[in-house]
Amino acid sequence: MPIRVLPSHLVNQIAAGEVVERPASVVKELVENAIDAKATRIDVTMEGGGRDLIRVTDDGGGIPEDELLLAIAAHATSKISTPEDLVAIRTMGFRGEALASIASVARVSILSRQRNAQAAAELLAEGETVTGPRPASGPPGTTVCVRTLFFNTPARRKFLKSEATEAGKIGDVIESLALAHPQVSFSLRSEQRLILDLPATDDPKRRALEVLGRELESKFLIADGSDGGITVWGLIGLPELAKPSARHIRIHLNGRPVVDRAILHAMREAYRGLIEPARSPMAVLFLEMDPREVDVNVHPAKTEVRFRQPALVRQAVLRGVRRALKDADLVPEFHVSTGSTQAAPFAAPRGTGLGAQSYGASMTGQAVAPAPMVYSEIVARLGPKPPVETPSEPAPALVPTMVRAVEILQVHASFVVTQDEQGLLIVDQHALHERVMFEKLLERVSQGPLERQQLLLPVILAVGGPELEAVAEIAPLCERIGLELVPAGPRALAIQAFPSFLFERGVEPGPFVRELLAKAVDDGTRDDTEAALAETLDMMACKAAIKAGDRLSLEELRDLLAWRERVDRSSNCPHGRPTSLRISIRDLERQFGRG
Ligand code: ADP
Ligand code: MG
Repeated sequence: MPIRVLPSHLVNQIAAGEVVERPASVVKELVENAIDAKATRIDVTMEGGGRDLIRVTDDGGGIPEDELLLAIAAHATSKISTPEDLVAIRTMGFRGEALASIASVARVSILSRQRNAQAAAELLAEGETVTGPRPASGPPGTTVCVRTLFFNTPARRKFLKSEATEAGKIGDVIESLALAHPQVSFSLRSEQRLILDLPATDDPKRRALEVLGRELESKFLIADGSDGGITVWGLIGLPELAKPSARHIRIHLNGRPVVDRAILHAMREAYRGLIEPARSPMAVLFLEMDPREVDVNVHPAKTEVRFRQPALVRQAVLRGVRRALKDADLVPEFHVSTGSTQAAPFAAPRGTGLGAQSYGASMTGQAVAPAPMVYSEIVARLGPKPPVETPSEPAPALVPTMVRAVEILQVHASFVVTQDEQGLLIVDQHALHERVMFEKLLERVSQGPLERQQLLLPVILAVGGPELEAVAEIAPLCERIGLELVPAGPRALAIQAFPSFLFERGVEPGPFVRELLAKAVDDGTRDDTEAALAETLDMMACKAAIKAGDRLSLEELRDLLAWRERVDRSSNCPHGRPTSLRISIRDLERQFGRG
């Protein structure tokens, strides 16, 4: 076949392949256009999960009648005109291809009227056929109707998911855009039913809570800060709201919902040790920065961006979120109810994805019973009791008087029960001690390599090739924690020095080093050295910490609780499991029929 220039209709269909993946992408483009047109109210209607009909009505500036044909032409836009405009995008759209792409794969009508125009005009486009524009009646603003999406590309149509799934994705898109534009009212209807109704507000927090569910207000902290010219603001969920997937982290950059792995990574890093590694926090984040510092023209759907200085962005998010978490009371409240036990800590509220249900899901029936405590297991683990490490520095003077005065009870040599201002506190002694050790190690290692204990008789380990290679790999890490490993022949390794911290706590060098090497072999080359260090310190903290089943004296229990007040992130162990649960006095009163 000779080379030929493709007809524009085919060009648009090809572009549509990238821009219009599913009904939700159509909704995204149309709502973005309405936002760019300065609408104050945007109403969306869908039928058949958006496959049969999508209608977006706005009260924005409208399109002049003589520009309607241009609006659906490819590479036609009113938003940029020079190359300089392209490097500082302030609008949601700029590529000028959305309407052209949509019109090439669906039956589209555009009815529009400018605010000061006498009448509206309408344009119909269906595949290659375009009718109009012709005079019509309608209020100021624009209504775009998209029917039978992919009518001429049956393969794409077949590829769509169930009606409920597509509807859910449409809901998601509207929520995301609504979060970043609280001053605009949004509504979504499906088959006449109102599913989403967000009145305009000046308060972004209010909008965020409308979307996330108002009943969750107490479960979110406000992050607010600015770092290196980047403002980070948002609602960040308490660790107990953590989810198995990262899709509950919503990121907006200059009003645009974006997907960015570096920011997700920074978020996880900020929550490290507060939630379990496989889970992700819930958060709505808004980043504001100079548009020249970011390239939004890297993805046809404009959802991915490229930062000029990604490290600055990562740092701004990390610091902003960490700061918010640092001062908060993160102890999960444990609700007791008659009959079965309802545990708040690991239960998560229903997601707000549309799916089959409605929005603003409330936290009903969300209880997940905690795993029963198996005491036989704890007893079986009863080993020789290592001494509790007495803090080398004097315990803080600021131990709350209540904690000092009250009895502290150790239950089954595993849990510590006491009280604080808000109620009854139950502490997992191992989890808390692990966190305490971890924080101390972290602080010490930031001041220089940890103290090492030279071994009189080096411990010799038989190892394989991969382990020996790993030794070289983790040499800088070993240096920092006070571990000295020397190859001793082709298949052996000598442990010459061992961290004093572990030595004093009676941790055996051999098994520790084996575990460290096994991890290094599994992980391969790590470029994130800080994360590798944190994991290693965590391993050390875990090994050195008192165990479930260790009987502690009152003095030791007091020390432990005193440290709880003192170290960062004491609400969770370094793996993210809670160290403490609280039953509030309010809850107790209710349970005893007094509230
Ligand atoms: P882009 O948004 O990248 O400019 P589109 O194909 O989405 O490209 O839209 C083309 C043009 O049509 C826009 O630049 C804008 O001028 C006009 N337009 C589209 N939708 C609307 C709307 N809802 N209100 C006013 N103008 C609109
Ligand atoms: Mg657009």
